[in-house]
Amino acid sequence: MKWHSYKLIANSNNAGVVDLVFDESCIFCKIVRRRAPASIIYENESVMAFLDIRPLNLGHTLVIPKDHYVDIFDIPENLLSEVHILSKKNSLAVKKATCSDGISIIQQNGKSAGQDIFHFHVHVIPRFERQHMPQFSELKEVERGKLDDMAAKIRQEL
Ligand SMILES: [Zn+2]
Repeated sequence: MKWHSYKLIANSNNAGVVDLVFDESCIFCKIVRRRAPASIIYENESVMAFLDIRPLNLGHTLVIPKDHYVDIFDIPENLLSEVHILSKKNSLAVKKATCSDGISIIQQNGKSAGQDIFHFHVHVIPRFERQHMPQFSELKEVERGKLDDMAAKIRQEL
């Protein structure tokens, strides 16, 4: 298997051709394909929500398209809509599950903007009164068991 972007023809019949775009070197593409662990909250055929392994607060979720699009500049509008619809649903569930005061939605495009993983993603972050916003690079990894427990809690609120 080559470590670069390629197109997989997942389904070709008279109804049409479905192209799924993967990047073998991308951690989010690996999560989509179950080649890397993640505490998954929700997925359908086009979008997915899972917990950030380095949360600002427990419940910090990443919402992604399953296909590999780098940023706002190359993601198709219909898929962008699906990602943001799931971000809204997930925000309501995260707010209930974490009893947070608010939710920050953050989405960065390009290294200069602070993008760290170059697969489009929306951060859904539970926020609490009087907590300042740290740099994402300061955040520490959380053990899988705690993430799995929180993912289950959020799933119940979806
Ligand atoms: Zn990817």
